[in-house]
Amino acid sequence: MRREWDVVVVGNGVAGLSTALTLARARMSVLVLGAGVRRNAAARSVRNLPYADGISPAELYDRIEAQVSAYGGSVETALVTEVRSADERLEVVHAHGVESCGRVVLAVGMTDTVPEWVPAEAWGTRVFTCPYCHAREHEGESFVVVGTGVIAAEVGLLCVPFASDLRVLVTSEEVTSMPVARQLEARGAQLVVDEPVSATLGDDGLRIMTRGGSQLIAGATLLNQIKQPPRLPKLDFPVELTAAKTLATNDAGATTDPRVWAVGNATHGGHLLLESMADGVRAGMALYKEAMLGHY
Ligand SMILES: Cc1cc2nc3c(=O)[nH]c(=O)nc-3n(C[C@H](O)[C@H](O)[C@H](O)COP(=O)(O)OP(=O)(O)OC[C@H]3O[C@@H](n4cnc5c(N)ncnc54)[C@H](O)[C@@H]3O)c2cc1C
Repeated sequence: MRREWDVVVVGNGVAGLSTALTLARARMSVLVLGAGVRRNAAARSVRNLPYADGISPAELYDRIEAQVSAYGGSVETALVTEVRSADERLEVVHAHGVESCGRVVLAVGMTDTVPEWVPAEAWGTRVFTCPYCHAREHEGESFVVVGTGVIAAEVGLLCVPFASDLRVLVTSEEVTSMPVARQLEARGAQLVVDEPVSATLGDDGLRIMTRGGSQLIAGATLLNQIKQPPRLPKLDFPVELTAAKTLATNDAGATTDPRVWAVGNATHGGHLLLESMADGVRAGMALYKEAMLGHY
């Protein structure tokens, strides 16, 4: 049986759930379809989310899902494979059937390509991307920052206050003659041209073997430039992408197709949880206004 909805949200991270919460509170019919792993699922705790600082990702998602359901929204597990036009409306094709809706919100997030040398259990517990969210929890431990060039060196500088010792591994020789290299040196950190080739996880952190033959112990390892563009379901209509291959939207979250909206990391890979939530709430309000007034 084909169900009819005002809005179907594709993706069950904070961006999609926040859109759904706002729409459900406005008494619009909304279905969230989500499958796969939320981006921060492997982390022990959530940071930089005022009021919920330290909550586990699982508890955060359980709480928001419960709130969406309490207001009458539906949250179901299913991978969406296609969104296609059906006259003025849209059809959302997923593993268990087809939904019909007036608007779709793409909240599919983005993915990180974790290098093969990182042991799976270390991702999110000892290996991170964001110094703002995870450096503080490893204060007093040794840090290794891994990257290609100047961005890795800058992430290294952000880790200085927390690291007992800090090594930045870059692949670009060029960065060693930049001012940032001298800033690191002045703060007692080492910038070397080298890269990890393997690592094992122990109680005290990662034991990293490098191409240059060093063995490093890292309580915290920061990776950068591992973000990949969102993986979109098949769309039978064009939507504009940004230079970073995320979905281009206006301030409210509308894409270049008026039936399709986008929020969270699917639109901006740098968005933290709070920004992704704000995207979701803003899009939810605009969709409600559009439904009531004919414009947002
Ligand atoms: C290790 C790590 C730790 C982090 N810690 C923090 C932190 O402490 N604080 C902070 O503010 N930010 C943190 N972040 C960033 C945070 O994870 C993102 O800001 C947030 O996840 C973005 O939310 P989102 O809803 O856009 O995407 P996501 O959380 O990735 O959610 C998208 C969901 O949609 C699903 N999906 C994708 N395609 C489909 C499809 N076709 N059909 C159905 N479902 C689909 C995905 O599988 C996923 O479950 C962290 C990131 C990482 C990598």
